[in-house]
Amino acid sequence: MGFESLLGNERLIENISRSISRGRISHFYLICGPAGSGKRTLAKLLGAAILCKGENKPCGVCPACRKALGSGHPDLITIDEPEKKTVSVDLIRQARADIYIQPNEADRKIYVFPRAQDMGIPSQNALLKVLEEPPAYGVFILLTDNPEKLLPTVRSRCTELSLSALPDHALRKKLQEAYPQASSDMLQAAISRSGGFLGQALSILEEGSDLPVQTEAFLKAFAARNTYALLQVLVPMEKWKRDQLIPILQQWTAFLEGALVYRSGVGAATPMAQELTAGRSAQELMTAIRHLQKSIEYAQGNVSPAAICGYLQWALR
Ligand SMILES: [Zn+2]
Repeated sequence: MGFESLLGNERLIENISRSISRGRISHFYLICGPAGSGKRTLAKLLGAAILCKGENKPCGVCPACRKALGSGHPDLITIDEPEKKTVSVDLIRQARADIYIQPNEADRKIYVFPRAQDMGIPSQNALLKVLEEPPAYGVFILLTDNPEKLLPTVRSRCTELSLSALPDHALRKKLQEAYPQASSDMLQAAISRSGGFLGQALSILEEGSDLPVQTEAFLKAFAARNTYALLQVLVPMEKWKRDQLIPILQQWTAFLEGALVYRSGVGAATPMAQELTAGRSAQELMTAIRHLQKSIEYAQGNVSPAAICGYLQWALR
């Protein structure tokens, strides 16, 4: 397993590989990208590449790589308390104290901070003290979905690595491997909603995979303007919980968006997109998407599922 296991991002990987093979390792990296864009994968690979003793780092086979990519390497340390909302000053101070203790077995000691955006100003200031005077062997890898939340003084010391979105065809290939049973409609919907990031697309498919009964029934009823069938879908959902309702409404939105994109001539001609565009105009699809988005906001804002489903029975008829 080398850098190629991170999908896309060829230029970024080329640059990292080149610097590491020349022994140019930065003390601070900032990996940026939205949720599901591969930040943790890249951090792991980067850590392994820095610790690797083989050629073509990370070689994936030397003991250092095997530990870093598998069971864990004593000099590749993750700093987080996932159950807490923020990354506390105490945690940073512990890491700060620990970094001045020599590496266990490698030439470097690497600290990974998976949620740099959740570091408050005091935590960032605590971190800044190490950033100003790191030990020669110290490497910090910060991960964030929002680099704007970092102090300019922190950010400016980091080598920034930004993960970018993948083209549809690359994403589709991976999704098909992961979900061979998924229909082309499901895949297209996940791709449209993912913003081009594999992790996002996978979690959409994962959430969607146990909800196809309502989704298919809804889409068919909506395409056919069948008010009675629409009620048959929506009425039982009035008793659902909000966190059940939100993903399915997101999935419906994704299908309608996919149909709209197909109508505009650039999206995939999936059977469901064809059925939806045959039954509904672009204007109607857009209006329905707006109503669904509104309903998702209502659900997130604590409106009851019964009220939301009632609203949709009227709005989508
Ligand atoms: Zn290696």
